Parts: sequence; structure tokens; C-alpha cells
Amino acid sequence: MNEVRVRFAPSPTGFFHIGSARTALFNWLYARHTGGTFVLRIEDTDKERNTEEALQVLLDGMRWLGLDWDEGPEKDGAFGPYFQSERGTVYQEYLDKLREQDRVYEKDGAIWFKLEGERYTAYDERLKKEIEKVKAEPIVIEDAVRGRVERAEEKDFVIFRANGEPVFHFVNVVDDISMGITHVIRGEDHLSNTSKHCELFKAFGHPYPVFAHIPLILKSSGPGKMSKRDEGALIEDYAKRMFLPEAVRNYLCLLGWSPKDDREVIPINEIIELFDLPGINKGNARFDEKKLSFVNTEYVRAMPLETFTWMARPILNEQGLVSEDFDETRLQAILAICQPKVQSFEDLPGFVSYFFKDDFAYDEKAARKVMKKGDPLKRIEEFKAGLASLESWDSASLDALVAALVETHGASLGEFIQPARLAVSGTNRGPGFNELILTLGQAAVLKRFDRFLETMAQETPTD
Ligand code: GLU
Repeated sequence: MNEVRVRFAPSPTGFFHIGSARTALFNWLYARHTGGTFVLRIEDTDKERNTEEALQVLLDGMRWLGLDWDEGPEKDGAFGPYFQSERGTVYQEYLDKLREQDRVYEKDGAIWFKLEGERYTAYDERLKKEIEKVKAEPIVIEDAVRGRVERAEEKDFVIFRANGEPVFHFVNVVDDISMGITHVIRGEDHLSNTSKHCELFKAFGHPYPVFAHIPLILKSSGPGKMSKRDEGALIEDYAKRMFLPEAVRNYLCLLGWSPKDDREVIPINEIIELFDLPGINKGNARFDEKKLSFVNTEYVRAMPLETFTWMARPILNEQGLVSEDFDETRLQAILAICQPKVQSFEDLPGFVSYFFKDDFAYDEKAARKVMKKGDPLKRIEEFKAGLASLESWDSASLDALVAALVETHGASLGEFIQPARLAVSGTNRGPGFNELILTLGQAAVLKRFDRFLETMAQETPTD
């Protein structure tokens, strides 16, 4: 059996669109699944747009997602160069092959590819004139995703523009042939180009590769595909927002493919094992920010604490919450109770900030809710007295204390816990209550109770 060779063939435009990333990913998965080769070919024939910076955005995005290529930029192989802008001689050679077979002609300075078939003239409604058409044999492909697709070209097409630049269809096919590509996995928007491409494959006497046209990614609501302006469309933004690359990659796998059960969080090695072209969905995939966030949260929570802390430290440092020499054991103790509850690294500073500063604000909505119920200031006074004389600072003692308070003062558990949580953290969400109190420590908790009593005594809560 032939070794599988797939390629991702982007035109660098300065941003890495989620649809391109998904195409890259599916090629990479297929190469890894089959033990084949993943080629990165840069289709940089548009000199204006395909700048060095645009290339770097793309390469950075690929690396960030962990999509390593076997041949391509900075990774030479036997089929280079991997930039179309450097393959001029290859294109000339292939043009010569067509010339030898009398399959090209010049018109208006451009070079045209001549279809084979019976020629006739027909009236073109759109152009309002007679034009020449060709009755060419229909091209039939067995697309690995779409199934049988049949389409006939009717017009010769340009392969070199008047300015001497080769056209996409030509270079794309020449490179797929000269790079030994066996499978073309690409966006469905290219399906309509495939008949032109197959005409060229035929002219070069080369068998078609296996085509797999993958469905589009629709924007999160409404019709239409995700454009670069839609929220969540650019891979570089996920990096900026500190999403975990493994999570984004996992989510992208689910855009048009599924493991045939309802799992969403799946280790990449398992996906590689399960991934195959017939498993790709025919229907369009819809971008779902909530699902992506869910998957990201799952990855964030599953990280080993040491790694989580290692990633969190610079983020918290940048926000001025911890100094560079902040004690590692202390930081780990704090993060250990927050990691299971936080949604993302983007949310982390807001989620943990009160551990590192005493002058936090009280969340207005939470405060309004807490101050409305019973006599929260009295409950904090009682809690304070109990905590001040608490002998051992552990969960069992804390439980016993709260139970005794409930018993003695005839108030509910929530009437103690809710104002206490607000008093020590300024919010009503966060880690488990006991963990929160115990990790903050007795001194800090008592100090925060005092600050709360002072602040709230001055404020008449509004409704
Ligand atoms: N440069 C083309 C694109 O970015 C490649 C198409 C293909 O994969 O054949 O869409």
C-alpha cells in the first residue's frame, strides 16, 4: 500500500481562521492515524498579502495547537521547496508537459488550459453574447466525505495570468502531483474547483488523489459560515485569552467529527486512533462557544496542580496579585482549592484576587442578597467570637463550631455561611466554604470580619 501523504496548503493572510485550523487538524489527524506524512505547503502566490508576518501568524498558530508537520517551512524534506513562490521551475516544467501535448494556448496574454471534447457555441444569458463551450466528459469523484460527486467543466480556463503569475488551480494540482500527495482533505468551498483540478490531473496522466471535502463551520447562530470578524473565529485570539491549546484542539476535532458516542473531552491519542475520513460528518458544523468553554474548563480542571500553578503564577504576577518570589507552597495551597471551581485562566485573576489583597470590593448583587436576609451583622459577630476561640484550625472543628452556632442562636446554616463568605471574599462564588476559611487562616478571617462589620454598618443596603 502507498504511504499516505497529506498536506495543509494555506495562503497566509495575517490571521489563522478556525476553519483553516480545522482543515490543518484533520489532515494532521489523518497522517498520524495512518502513520503517513503531514506536509505544510505555503500557497503564497499573492505577493501583496502573503508577507513574512502573515506566515509567522500561521506557523505560530500551528505550533500552538501542537500540529507538527513532517515536511514544510523550517522542516526540509525530499519534496521541497515548500513555498509556492519558490517553485517557479517546477511550474514551467509542468507547463511544458502541457505544451507538448498541445493542451494550452495563449489568448489576451494569458495561458489557457484546453479542455478535451466537442466544441460548440452557446448563447450566454449573463454575458449576453455567444461564447464557446466544450462538451467534456463529466468528472466523477468518490469523495471520502461527500460520496459520489459528478461535474463537467464547460470552458477552458486560465492557468497563467497575463502578468506571468500561475493560477491557483494549476499550482495546486502541480504541487499535489510533484509532492506525491495521496489525499486532499480540504474545505467544502473547494469542491467546485475539483473538476478543474481533475481535468489537470488527467492531462498530466496522473491518478486523482482521494478527495475529502469537509463541511463548513457555521457561525454560532443564524445562517452563513464563520467569517474572520465573528467572535471566536481566530486561533490567535484563543492564545491571547489563555485558552489551553489542547482544549481548543479537542474542541476543533468535534467540529465535523465525533467519536460516535456522546463524549466531548477525549485524549488526543484516542482521537488519532478513532479518526478516519468516512467518520467526518456531511452536514455543516456549528460553532458553539459554550461547548468550547466547557471543554476548556474540563482541561483546566484536569491539569496537575504543579502545572496549573506554573501557568497561573505569571498571570497573577502580571495582574499585580503575586510577587515573583511569592511562596510556592502558599500559592499551591490557594490554587489547589480554586482550580476545581475556576472556569478558565482568563477568569483566574478575578476568581482568586481576594486571597492576595485585603481591600477587595464587595460584589453589589451578592451583598444585596446577603444583607436582606435575617440579621447578617449579628451572625458575623457570633461567628467571629466562635472563630476567635476555635482551638484547632481544621475542617472538623469548623463544622462543629458552625453546628453549635446554629443550635445556640436559632439561625440557619446559610445565615452564617453566606455573610461569612461575602465578608472574607467579597463574592458569593468560590471554593468550598471550609477550604476557603481554613486556607485564608484565622487572622485574615477575623480581620475581614471586622472590615465587613465596619463597612456594612455604615451602609444602609438598598433594594
Ligand atoms: N490555498 C488553498 C486555500 O487556502 C488550498 C486549497 C487546497 O487545500 O487545495 O484554500
